[in-house]
Amino acid sequence: MARVFNHQIGRAMKYWYPETRPKRQFSAVFDINKCIACQTCTLACKTTWTSGRGQELMFWNNVESKPFGFYPLGWDVRLLDMLGAQTWNDGIYEGKTIFEASPKGQRSLGFRPEDADYANPNLGEDDSAGAIDKGAFLTNVHTAAWMFYLARICNHCTYPACLASCTRGAIYKRPEDGIVVVDQKRCRGYRDCIAACPYKKTFFNPEGQTTEKCIGCFPKIEGGEQPQCVVSCIGKIRLQSFVSTPDKAREDNPVDYLVHVRKLALPLFPQFGLEPNVYYIPPIHVPEPFLVQMFGPGAGAAVKAYREARQDPIVAGLLTLFGSTQRVLWRFKVENGFAHGYDEKGTQVVRVPVTEPTVVRTAFDETLRIARWNIP
Ligand code: SF4
Ligand code: SF4
Repeated sequence: MARVFNHQIGRAMKYWYPETRPKRQFSAVFDINKCIACQTCTLACKTTWTSGRGQELMFWNNVESKPFGFYPLGWDVRLLDMLGAQTWNDGIYEGKTIFEASPKGQRSLGFRPEDADYANPNLGEDDSAGAIDKGAFLTNVHTAAWMFYLARICNHCTYPACLASCTRGAIYKRPEDGIVVVDQKRCRGYRDCIAACPYKKTFFNPEGQTTEKCIGCFPKIEGGEQPQCVVSCIGKIRLQSFVSTPDKAREDNPVDYLVHVRKLALPLFPQFGLEPNVYYIPPIHVPEPFLVQMFGPGAGAAVKAYREARQDPIVAGLLTLFGSTQRVLWRFKVENGFAHGYDEKGTQVVRVPVTEPTVVRTAFDETLRIARWNIP
């Protein structure tokens, strides 16, 4: 085991391989507050990459209802239970990561779900199980009336557990963009990666007898375009670009700005220790202890900053660039009420007003000399 630095947990940790960072790291920010669970992203991914035989129950992108929805069943709560106490002190994680908690003979702590756990994604998540008596309310671990939708893809982690667990060396991280892929010729379908990935984002194809996973739409990334799940998102909750390490964060990089400068977007379960590269703006209506468990100790401050976003022209402007273009935005600026986005070459590819202009049309237009009869 090597010692590597994980900036999301604020300390060094054990990992199977020494620290190597790609030339640039694929990353994305998802604003949970805007997701409507329309599943357009899920279907965009499915029709692009996983419509073949053996891929019927495979969703590289999925959207589940939290706290009681899962794909596969219990993926997060089972591991949280296995991991034990997960305490933070002043931004530093004091518990064990899944690499540090690995049982003897294993490279990380984990479990392999049963086939049936993948079989019914979303079924009944938002439904009551029967008639509800007047005045009745839900009693469970989370008693309050709140829920939210969690959209998930592979996090293209800096320290992937899937890669660490593969004894065939079939999984690798592309040096040019940090996207984690499976070499189909080397994979023998041992499925150690499926047990190891805490997010359960590697999938076994029973027809091909190999593991398959999200490839970050790398053919699009290479052409300067954002992935299918991002550009198809109806709620405009997603923005994909590249994230820097905190010491190299650039204020004009849209992901760096949200993650490192304003700390509005947070990793999913940073305590697992993988340094995942998909970041979430947490839902503002959910109790803070739940958010801290899911997104780490910065959750309260992130919610506060998001609530104040309307008064913050740069954050408000940057949020309008989500879903505004198919191109990958390398740089942004907000100026004179407009948010501007630029591609890798510095060419402006989008310009969006921070506040949607309101146009009031009169019933009779003096200039055009016409009467609009649909206006009272
Ligand atoms: S989310 Fe899972 S599959 Fe994706 S890189 Fe991380 S460990 Fe591997
Ligand atoms: S397309 Fe966007 S809004 Fe719809 S479910 Fe996916 S992430 Fe949510």
